Formats: sequence, C-alpha cells, structure tokens
Amino acid sequence: MDIYGIIGNPLGHSFSKQYFTEKFRKEGIVGAVYEKFQLDDISQLPDLIASTPGLQGLNVTIPYKQQVLPYLDRLDDGARKIGAVNCISFRDGKLTGHNTDAAGFRASLLGFLGNERPDALVLGTGGAAKAVNYVLGELGINFTIVSRTKAPGILTYGELDGDVMAAHRLIVNTTPLGTFPDVDASPAIPYDLLTPAHRLFDLVYNPEETAFMRQGAARGARTVNGFGMLTGQAEKAWEIWNGYSEP
Ligand code: NAP
Repeated sequence: MDIYGIIGNPLGHSFSKQYFTEKFRKEGIVGAVYEKFQLDDISQLPDLIASTPGLQGLNVTIPYKQQVLPYLDRLDDGARKIGAVNCISFRDGKLTGHNTDAAGFRASLLGFLGNERPDALVLGTGGAAKAVNYVLGELGINFTIVSRTKAPGILTYGELDGDVMAAHRLIVNTTPLGTFPDVDASPAIPYDLLTPAHRLFDLVYNPEETAFMRQGAARGARTVNGFGMLTGQAEKAWEIWNGYSEP
C-alpha cells in the first residue's frame, strides 16, 4: 500500500486529505491512501517515518512548515530560498523538502494576470507571504510589503495613500483575515481608492468570495480567491511524489 499524508497540528479538517482521497477515487488509483498524521511535536517525525513503511510523500502544514527543516536531508531550490517546506518527498532514502505553495501561487497568478505584470502590494508577512514574494520576484513583478508593524522598506496600512494605491495595481492578501467564520473581516486597505484597473488576489479560499474580494469587485477590480493556488499546490506535490517533476 502506498501511503501519503499530511503532518500538522491541529488537523481537524484537511483539504489535502479530502482532495487526494477524491483524486484516488476519481482516477481509479488503487493501493494508495492519504492519512492525517497529527504530531504533538515535530520531533515525532523520524518515528512516524520509521513506523510507516510504504510512506511515499508528506504534506506539511501549520505549525511545522519551518520547524521541519532540520529533519530534512536536502531542500529544493525554491524551498531553500523561501525558507519553508509544505511537501516532503522520499527518494533514494533521502528526505527532500519542497514548497509547492509557490508553484500553486505562480500557476494561479499567471492565469489571473495573463500578460499583465503590475507592481504589487503584498499584505502580511507570514509563511504564505514568503512563498508569494519569492514567486513575484521570479516573475519580475516589483512588490512592496504591507504590515501592521513598521519596518524599513515596509509600508503600514496607514501609509496606503492615493499615490501608493495608484502605483500598485496588484494586491495580494496573504493575511488570514476574512476566513470563515470571520467572513466580514478584511485587511485595512483604502477600498475607496480601488479602480477597475486593480487586481485583487486573496489567498483565502473559504468563503469563495471574501470581504476583501467583494469590496474590490464593488469598485470594478478583478478578483480571484486562493482555491486555484490550493489545488495547484496539491497537484504539484503529486507530480513531485511520482517523479513527474524534478526536485
Ligand atoms: P500567518 O503566518 O498566521 O499570517 C500571515 C500574516 O498575516 C501575519 O504574518 C500578519 O502579518 C498578518 N496578519 C495576521 N493576523 C492579522 C490581523 N488580525 N490583521 C492584520 N494582519 C494580520 O499565516 P500564513 O501561514 O502566512 O497563511 C496566511 C493565509 O494564507 C491563511 O489564511 C492561509 O490559509 C492562507 N494560505 C492559503 C494557501 C492557498 O493555497 N490558497 C496556501 C498557504 C496559505 P503582519 O504581522 O506583518 O501584519
């Protein structure tokens, strides 16, 4: 039996388990299962691997995306530059860390932007923002980080005036604001300065249309949620585990 799974804590609802279980069923992939492995501490990872023969690949989620790094034999280029891992492959007896959030974001963003490459504001400075910033850099998209905390080169929400909003037509929300059940929450940008030329990418995917997206759409901006990124990162993990995509 080929075993795939996700490590994290808590793992109450897991998109990945639902996604891969459905994929195996739809594609007639027999002899493969996808399990949730809730770990109290990342130091339990070596025991999990030793006691799970047939383990072919793992996803990694909160709070272990950075804590897992010392347990890996190597990192692919993207994961090394981003400094976070959400996917582990086992090849030649070695544990390799990958960041497929980046691939998922890249594919979804390119579909959303087409040939446009507007300067961007990235809201939030957490793990997801690191993958987003890496991809924007790769694509040659200039970006400015927005945080609640003032730091050199970083804007605060209060500094988003007319000039800043006009100069940055892509706005990427990497904060968790607006996620179910707090669906009325949204990042504190000046929504009245948005125009039909703005593009709003929300990493949040539940609800389907977040308050951030809704307020942009009301001013004519184009919007997309994080669902395409989510499925993109899962498919990239599947490619890596099956050797279709080089680490
Ligand atoms: P995180 O580290 O908990 O938070 C990201 C950043 O958001 C924080 O560093 C913080 O930046 C800002 N933030 C947090 N709470 C805030 C608040 N109350 N008000 C304003 N800003 C706040 O989370 P993460 O792991 O980066 O994930 C962020 C979001 O992306 C989550 O909703 C996650 O589900 C989603 N995500 C989606 C995908 C996908 O495939 N669609 C993949 C990964 C993550 P500052 O302190 O600098 O303001």
